[in-house]
Amino acid sequence: AAPDPQAGAAVKAADRAHVFHSWSAQGLIDPLAVAGAEGSYFWDYDGNRYLDFTSGLVYTNIGYQHPKVVAAIQEQAGKLATFAPAFAVDVRSEAARLIAERTPGDLDKIFFTNGGAEAVENAVRMARLHTGRHKVLSAFRSYHGATSTAINLTGDPRRWASDTGSAGVVRFWAPFLYRSPFYSETEQQECERALAHLEDTIAFEGPATIAAIILETVPGTAGIMTPPPGYLAGVRAICDKYGIVFVLDEVMAGFGRTGKWFAAEHFDVVPDLMTFAKGVNSGYVPLGGVAINAEIAATFDKRPYPGGLTYSGHPLACAAAVATIQVMEDEKVVEHAAHLGENVLGPGLRELAERHPSVGEVRGMGVFWALELVRNRETREPLVPYNAAGEAAAPMAALGAAAKKNGLWPFINMNRTHAVPACNASEAEVKEGLAALDAALSVADEY
Ligand code: PLP
Repeated sequence: AAPDPQAGAAVKAADRAHVFHSWSAQGLIDPLAVAGAEGSYFWDYDGNRYLDFTSGLVYTNIGYQHPKVVAAIQEQAGKLATFAPAFAVDVRSEAARLIAERTPGDLDKIFFTNGGAEAVENAVRMARLHTGRHKVLSAFRSYHGATSTAINLTGDPRRWASDTGSAGVVRFWAPFLYRSPFYSETEQQECERALAHLEDTIAFEGPATIAAIILETVPGTAGIMTPPPGYLAGVRAICDKYGIVFVLDEVMAGFGRTGKWFAAEHFDVVPDLMTFAKGVNSGYVPLGGVAINAEIAATFDKRPYPGGLTYSGHPLACAAAVATIQVMEDEKVVEHAAHLGENVLGPGLRELAERHPSVGEVRGMGVFWALELVRNRETREPLVPYNAAGEAAAPMAALGAAAKKNGLWPFINMNRTHAVPACNASEAEVKEGLAALDAALSVADEY
């Protein structure tokens, strides 16, 4: 469509008058008015087009407006737009079957929610009822959602304002060699020390009080820190030793992002509960859920599960999931994400790191990558301080502005930029993004 700045101004004016935005000081934001999106791109009303290296909030795993998913939603709307959760509905059954067939091990029952935070809330509720215990252990450098338990479990500054401290949440350090909490020098040390620290934490908290340990399989917004070999298997063994439910949060890492259906496959580990959302249907209609193993599901065979949602397994959302999973199979989207990581995005980012002194570390897999930006590679001083805002965050803002000027919409969190395009982005699109990042990193190099 032709640019229409006037229409854009009207959209923006109504937004500023009436839309209350997430995570924002309402008087200080200037949201871009979006006119449309397709595939890996979106555009505004002024004729600017952006390559989306954020996949929305890391969820449009098959890009925007995939025609088959749009058609499936339209068709479902014409057939049965909604139906209450207590009934068996064809698309709900089919979505559950397709998801359960792809989740690892015996995670064969699916409880549907509207998104990731609700999935985490329900996973924790299931773990508490199953074990009869209350405490839940979660990692610093994590994000699990913004509802009350999910935000308490979150190990980043978004928690601070909502931290009532009343939810029985205990946080521990997960492995992260680049900024090792354990002063480790090798992956193996980091793995061993992180596991010893977790087991110490359990001993001092009282093993019999702990219902669950929740981890993002590969932490996402907190920095895409791939766990060292053996870590997740070690957590699995600790959970088994103490009768603790192991919850893996795959809300961001799942559905192709890491080049596998679920990131847990990379580590050969099967959790007791797994949360998902986002990529399950590329976010075309809100959907999330918990995949439940046989043992925990059996807890609720004779005893009612005390939790539910009006829109659990909403037919429009489930139709979008069925179509998305079908598209991902037919178009080999998961394999493509792995290929991009191994042959285009990973090597391209490493090549940028060689030339840009501001890049301290490149890490990731599939279409799930982080560039850790530093002022000094030797000291690893972050380009901006932890949780920096305003003037202190200026270098990252400058990098973001430079990327946008070059037609790239970047993902920025603290001192990192993440390269998280759609799993079905073309090689040419990824290369275009790398070129724009190249120019933007030159700005970061100046600090
Ligand atoms: N868990 C993880 C790992 C996430 O990345 C997110 C969102 O980014 C959530 C949970 C919360 O999901 P939602 O925003 O759909 O509630």
